[in-house]
Amino acid sequence: MSESSVASDETPPPLNRAKTIAPTVPPTLTGRVIRTQSGFFTVETDHGNFTCQISGKLKNSVQRSVSKDTEQRGDLVALNDLVTIAPYDTNQAAIVDVTPRRNVLSRVAPGASVGTSAESEKIILANTDQVIIVLAARKPSPKPRALDRLLVIAEKAEIPSIVICITKMDLDKKGQVRETFKLYEEIGYPVYYVSALSEGQPGVDAFRNVLIRDEYQVSVLTGPSGVGKSTLLNALEEGLRLETKSVSDATTKGRHTTRFSQLIKLEAGGYVADTPGIRSIAPWDIEPEELDGYYIEFRPFVERCKFADCSHVHEPGCAVIAAVEAGEISA
Ligand code: GDP
Ligand code: ZN
Repeated sequence: MSESSVASDETPPPLNRAKTIAPTVPPTLTGRVIRTQSGFFTVETDHGNFTCQISGKLKNSVQRSVSKDTEQRGDLVALNDLVTIAPYDTNQAAIVDVTPRRNVLSRVAPGASVGTSAESEKIILANTDQVIIVLAARKPSPKPRALDRLLVIAEKAEIPSIVICITKMDLDKKGQVRETFKLYEEIGYPVYYVSALSEGQPGVDAFRNVLIRDEYQVSVLTGPSGVGKSTLLNALEEGLRLETKSVSDATTKGRHTTRFSQLIKLEAGGYVADTPGIRSIAPWDIEPEELDGYYIEFRPFVERCKFADCSHVHEPGCAVIAAVEAGEISA
């Protein structure tokens, strides 16, 4: 019996479907965008990874509805979007639909100023489960203002879990750092203290458990350059080998910048986003009047201010100022 007669016994593949696709692969699949690079997306599915582009139909449909649809603003497809794809060849597919996002972390596209137009919003990560704000005990010294700003961004984006991680605890010789961050623990943010380069890597195990709480949890590390984010991720898992500052500075001339974003799947479960844009993460679209709502320790007090539009700076009868004076909110 020749091979061709065996093949003819099988149900023929649907039209316009390449013969190279395994017959077990359904016409459409759902999956997660785990990598984006200049118009190409890698989508992880139960049937393996597919390299995808956005279907023309999806592009057109979104162009028509863009003015109404505020949730799906910015990029059509972003890292960690849940999408429907139609495979057309071995490991190649078109993205035909995007599941509405639970939240987005964005930055302003280069050259655009904050709050100008929704088209210049670049989505760094969609559907984030956890934001980890990383600061160093020293070198560089932590700046509470920068921390507050990142907390506001994460609160505004409605990220379900927001934690703080303080690195380089080996440099905190006087033991002052825990005192500094006690305030944030008191207002409800978990704070982890790690020392990734010291013997026994104090704190790293506890921090790992934060990242791997469930198989599909997607976390992103954000914080100033040089605080030790890459070093920390490398300490979590052998084989990640993310480029750290000291290494790259020593070996490369004219810094190579990553043009792609990806999710790193951790062996123990969960994903960590590795994306170049995260440093310039910007508060998108925050009106001055709503800002106080994102400082979680203000929340119990803002309703008690005499004026509904109180800026909590100079107004008489301001409950926030009173709370600061009473020591209930940190100055
Ligand atoms: P990133 O920019 O946040 O990714 O920072 P890197 O991981 O590249 O680290 C910046 C520098 O801080 C490197 O020279 C690291 O060796 C150093 N570093 C990272 N973690 C620690 C730590 O726990 N203790 C000390 N003393 N140095 C660290
Ligand atoms: Zn007030």
